Amino acid sequence: MSAPAWLPLRPELREEEPYGAPQIDVPVRLNTNENPYGPSEAVAADVAESVRAAALGLNRYPDREATTLREALAGYLSREVPGLDASRVWAANGSNEVMQQILQAFGGPGRTALSFAPTYSMYPEYARNTHTRWVTGRRRDDFGIDVDTALELIAAEQPDVVFLTSPNNPTGTALDPEHTRAVLDAAPGMVVVDEAYAEFRRAGTPTALELLDGHPRLVVTRTMSKAFALAGGRLGYLAAHPDVVDALRIVRLPYHLSAVTQATAVAALRHTDELLAQVDALRAERDRTAERLRGAGFTVADSDANFVLFGMFDDRHATWQALVDRGVLVRETGPLGWLRVSIGTPEEMDAFHTALTEVTDV
Ligand code: PMP
Repeated sequence: MSAPAWLPLRPELREEEPYGAPQIDVPVRLNTNENPYGPSEAVAADVAESVRAAALGLNRYPDREATTLREALAGYLSREVPGLDASRVWAANGSNEVMQQILQAFGGPGRTALSFAPTYSMYPEYARNTHTRWVTGRRRDDFGIDVDTALELIAAEQPDVVFLTSPNNPTGTALDPEHTRAVLDAAPGMVVVDEAYAEFRRAGTPTALELLDGHPRLVVTRTMSKAFALAGGRLGYLAAHPDVVDALRIVRLPYHLSAVTQATAVAALRHTDELLAQVDALRAERDRTAERLRGAGFTVADSDANFVLFGMFDDRHATWQALVDRGVLVRETGPLGWLRVSIGTPEEMDAFHTALTEVTDV
């Protein structure tokens, strides 16, 4: 797609495609790392009641500071890092918006952001949108980060923002906290650890939240889209030093989180235990999926997330299409030769394995 010639669009956007996985209506959708278990009727009823109450005040702008919501998010994070309060938590419409705000505040013209590929493909788009120079380092063949190479690149590029992703998308790789610490010590600017999939990590895999004390330039981003089964609610958040939160309050649009969004997320957080109840089942299903794929002869990346990267395919697009033709949608992403499957219900995973056997046996 190329923009029409009459449109006075920024030149670097002319040939760009809007980001997004294909939204194809097939029976088994395993392509955007959603939680396959939707909220229960009881949770939906509480959300509906909270939204109804909020609706009575929709003539007024919402709480600009989202105080109640940030307190609830701080309460949730305090399960992992006791003592975190609302002054250290910020929220926006998905962690996508949180990260774009980070680049609005800490990136920008003349500034550099850096990440290590293969990784989440939205990062370069936030950089483009904020006129931030973008630099990509490489991960090792096992998708871990080689700390010496990373430190060399950081020394050479002096990035204002480094994005680390743990567990990484699309590979599922968790980051060794010693590596995060080394990057924090070497990087001159902000270090963002994107923990969108943190709740799915395997036992013993630490979170960067533990590094917040003593590292004021560390930002840990999270989302309610995955483990909380709230992708449709659009609520992402971060934990950081209060001064970082104050900096983001400068660039955020006024009233960026609608009263409806805030009411929805606060209601969902009241049901944290129930919404997270399927996380253990999804982790077990992920491990089963990896084993089954390995058993069938595929190469599988170790995953701490709710998806698995597997390969290798000479023509991955042909395999992707053949799966779609059988009603199973996975994601054509990551390095060439690999496909990514999000973890669904056991029935969905059975359908995936059956279809994959059919399409790779021919
Ligand atoms: N970070 C990573 C690594 C992701 O995979 C995603 C979603 N695919 C996001 C951030 C953004 O999620 P959301 O905006 O729904 O919070």
